[in-house]
Amino acid sequence: MFPFIDLAKINARFDLRSAFESFVQSAQYIQGEESVRFEREFATYCGSKHCIGVSSGSSALYLILKAYKQLGKLHDHDAIIVPTNTYIASVFAITQNNLTPIFAEPSTQDFLLDTSALESLLTPRVRAIMPVHLYGQLCDMERINAFAKAHNLLVIEDSAQAHGAYLLDSHTRAGAYGDVGGFSFYPAKNLGALGDGGAITTDDDELAATLRCLANAGSTSKYTHTLDGINARLDSLQALVLRTKLALLDSDNAHRREIAKIYASAITHSEIILPHYRISSPHSHVWHLFVIRTKAREKLRSHLTRYGVQSIIHYPIPVHKQLVYARYNHLELSIAQSLQNEILSLPISQVQSIEDTHKIAEILNAFVL
Ligand SMILES: *Cc1c(COP(=O)(O)O)cnc(C)c1O
Repeated sequence: MFPFIDLAKINARFDLRSAFESFVQSAQYIQGEESVRFEREFATYCGSKHCIGVSSGSSALYLILKAYKQLGKLHDHDAIIVPTNTYIASVFAITQNNLTPIFAEPSTQDFLLDTSALESLLTPRVRAIMPVHLYGQLCDMERINAFAKAHNLLVIEDSAQAHGAYLLDSHTRAGAYGDVGGFSFYPAKNLGALGDGGAITTDDDELAATLRCLANAGSTSKYTHTLDGINARLDSLQALVLRTKLALLDSDNAHRREIAKIYASAITHSEIILPHYRISSPHSHVWHLFVIRTKAREKLRSHLTRYGVQSIIHYPIPVHKQLVYARYNHLELSIAQSLQNEILSLPISQVQSIEDTHKIAEILNAFVL
């Protein structure tokens, strides 16, 4: 069997038992010392001034936009450019804040936001852009930031798949290129909790204070509520797990890069298109997913299943075609819609062996149409 990802094996590498015992003894289950420490360490790791731990990646993105509205930087019905080939939470954050998504097409090369099309998406209502570092690869942040600056837009990085990715200098990583970044620590992410978790990174003091208050029931001191907030705090227990696992994030990402390199040289099937990445800046991709393209996807998937290789489709339906977004279903975004029928994610993780990776490549190469 070749599992898509083996979470038990990933987490068995850490001695969480003794840490857990002292955590239980500490009785600081919410916003305790572990939360403070994790926030400080993750902020430093990403190269941001602030990190606010929250309950999930979805709540991170939701709170970012809610905080900008609170600060008067966004208003009802303002528009935000967002790729349609993303996990739906990116767009939920927009619509649930009474803002309007402007769906963008991906580039056919790397499946990331097509920056050459940004100008054509601009309307007078556009106030922000939400690049998604899809599959673990940094978007072209230089170009996106220049575009945002020219048009006075906020840049919100959906970094839920790209923990640790950086272009050239490891002092600035995903989540620290734009105005603010949202992270998910869903168990299968490159940095995963033992449950749900998320974080927000920013250099903006005012935004950070507003976010902290909004995520803590609108309160900065107990039973005094200044904002219309929600309870979206990061559990101290998850903070403890994440602190422990953060120590291995760079070497985990390096291993994923190694797996990707093996796939890229060992998969030679003519019907399979390999994922594109920037060879000159290998650290800009942390390979959350290894996504191939093929016109024969369904047949290839059955072939893989027959040989015990798990595969997943990320994502089978572009967001603008989801039932919940019936009001956008009429949109035709042909690139995203054609990709949706051809993409397939292969097993990849920090605990996948080199040997298994070669075997999976061989199974792929043996596929007969
Ligand atoms: C995982 C993910 C999210 C949401 O994170 P949750 O913690 O599951 O709420 C948002 N955006 C992207 C791109 C993701 O992959």
